[in-house]
Amino acid sequence: MATDANERLNQWLQSAHAMEQQAEQMLKAQSNRIESYPQLQDRLERHLAETQSQRERLEGCLSSRGISASGMKDAAAQVTAFMQAAGGSMAADEVVKGSLASYTFEHFEIGTYRSLIAAADAVGDAQTARVCSEILQEEEAMAGWLEEHIPEITRSYLARSESSTGDAKR
Ligand code: MG
Ligand code: FE
Repeated sequence: MATDANERLNQWLQSAHAMEQQAEQMLKAQSNRIESYPQLQDRLERHLAETQSQRERLEGCLSSRGISASGMKDAAAQVTAFMQAAGGSMAADEVVKGSLASYTFEHFEIGTYRSLIAAADAVGDAQTARVCSEILQEEEAMAGWLEEHIPEITRSYLARSESSTGDAKR
């Protein structure tokens, strides 16, 4: 059976909305656990605020397309599985594992918005394409920040691990 492109875009927007809800939970959990890495914590907090706004902007796209944001258990479960796989909150090196998971997650988001922009363009929904382009820039900025700071976070973790203060983990 053929699926209409508009219907498919609606499903993808609902998936993206579920993805942002999961991102919100993940960023909150990560930020709350950090104790010794204030720069990383600040950046996670800033991206948390962006993520909440992204969710709202997607809700705007969904409602202007006449559909609801609810009923997306599949997509939520998919991202939850990702978060569990990324894991690391019990690990002695959780700040490093968490940064790698975030870096991966941001790229999942980047791919999602690139695809949404193409789909919105394909059906002539300029407003959704514009919103997704704005969000894409925020995801790329977060991925770029992590790319730049992962070496420094790693060095800081290693230096803290070698001292006996016990504050390296997070
Ligand atoms: Mg996002
Ligand atoms: Fe993001």
